[in-house]
Formats: sequence, structure tokens, C-alpha cells
Amino acid sequence: LQPRPRLPRWMKMQLPKGESYSKVKNLVSKHGLHTICTSGNCPNIGECWNRGTATFMILGEICTRNCKFCGVKTGRPLPPDPLEPARVAESIRIMQVKHAVITSVDRDDLPDLGAAIWAETIRQVKQLNPDTRLEVLIPDFQGRKELIVQVAAAKPNVISHNLETVERLTPQIRSAAKYRRSLDVISAIAETGLVAKSGIMLGLGETEAEVLQTMDDLLAAGCKVMTIGQYLAPTVSHIPVYEYVTPEQFEKCRKIGLEKGFSFVESSPLVRSSYRAEQHVEA
Ligand code: SF4
Ligand code: SF4
Repeated sequence: LQPRPRLPRWMKMQLPKGESYSKVKNLVSKHGLHTICTSGNCPNIGECWNRGTATFMILGEICTRNCKFCGVKTGRPLPPDPLEPARVAESIRIMQVKHAVITSVDRDDLPDLGAAIWAETIRQVKQLNPDTRLEVLIPDFQGRKELIVQVAAAKPNVISHNLETVERLTPQIRSAAKYRRSLDVISAIAETGLVAKSGIMLGLGETEAEVLQTMDDLLAAGCKVMTIGQYLAPTVSHIPVYEYVTPEQFEKCRKIGLEKGFSFVESSPLVRSSYRAEQHVEA
């Protein structure tokens, strides 16, 4: 058994504060709004909400997949709620979000894998919030290019699809998803002309050479923005952290990524896919 490493000092979270953060927090609690920032206990909430960035999840809260790193519930999801797109658009309006990130559970149970609700959500968010920039973090849609094109046609500013880990570890970490298929998804996003973004987690047992190979694979697929953060196990039943990667190693990855050709690389222990998302629109 691999011994579980202790949480190092650089992973200690600070309590969120700031004027904008407090204002958004009050609005969220007054209107009973739901964000991933709060439900996922994200360590960046103070910084993100102060900058006007927040993340929302659509297509319910139950996923058809069961990735070993993910805290989302697995099971048989409820039918899609046709009112969900309007609700998300309204939440973004109330919270005065300047840069919204939308993600979803995987809906392998639906004939269109959720693409229609995705496209409708993007349209309604843009209609009600014309000044809000929108990033969508999409599932792999089982590699069905026509569904990716359908989502892209609603014209978000950035489309993101996470590789999550290096090729060797993918079968152990992700459920149903395949490394090469995810690269094809990223190529399909880049072909639409929108900004393609992806992210991985470190601390799962990957080597530096594998991380650099992943960067090369992403660049070859047309990816422009990459996020790299430390994996944290949501519970003791999830795959354990193999190691805590040092801030210096994250910084090294950031520099190498920029030298290799990414427009943006966010790489530090607390980085999550939507961290500093507002900066990636112009990639
Ligand atoms: Fe929310 Fe993403 Fe920022 Fe975390 S990193 S607070 S989930 S927007
Ligand atoms: Fe979590 Fe996404 Fe995997 Fe579902 S597909 S378990 S939401 S990471």
C-alpha cells in the first residue's frame, strides 16, 4: 500500500474575503443559487468571486460515469430539466458574473448525450447576459463530433475539455473516457475556431516526461490554454494522492508549457480548471 502523504504547508487554504466576494456570497444565499465554487468547496472561491468568475453545473447532479478522482455522485440521472438553462442564465444575472464557466455531468443515458441542453443553456446565458464571457467545460460526448459542433454553434468564448491525467494513468483514473478520444475532442473544438482549453491534475503518480508528452499531445491537437493543479482526493474512498507536487515543480511546468507554445498555462497547486478563466478568452 502506498502511504498517504501529509498535506504540505502550501496546500493550506486561506479563508475567503473581499468586498465583491461578500456581496456575491450574500446574493447566492439570498436567492438559494447553486455553484460548483460552493458545492465543491473550491479553495479559490475568494479570488474567483472577487474577480467576477463563477462555475455552474448543468444536466443535474448525478453522473453516468464513475471517475476515481471525482466527487460527483454516480447513478441513474433524472430526466433533463427544460427550465435549467433559464435558471443558470438567471443565476449569472443575479450574481453579476463577468466570466461564467459552465460544466456538466456526463449524460451517456441521453440520445444526444445532453448536447441540446448544452446549446440552449449557452444561448440563454448569452441572451440574458450579453456582456458576460462564457467558457464551457464539456464532456467527451463519446467523441461524437456533430455534438461538439452543435455546442460550438451556440458560440461560447472558450470550450474546454479536460484530459485530467497522462495517457498511462487514464484507464485507472477516468471512467469510460479515453486519452486519444479526448485529444480528438480537443481537435474538434479547435477546428470550430473557438479557443480550445484543457487541464490535467498532478500528484497521481505521473512522471515529468509524461507531463511533457501530454503538453505536446495537447498542442498537436490545437489546444491553446492549459491548466495544471494538484489532485486532492474528495473522500477516502477515492484514489489516494500519490504525492504533493511542489510549487517549484508547478512553476517549472508553467514555464515549459509557455516555451512549448501554449498561449496561457495556469500551473500551481491550487489551480482548478476554471481558475483565472477570465484571462483565457483572448488566447
Ligand atoms: Fe469556482 Fe472554478 Fe474559481 Fe473554484 S476555480 S472558485 S470552481 S470558478
Ligand atoms: Fe466526474 Fe465528469 Fe467523471 Fe462524471 S465524467 S464522474 S462528472 S469527472
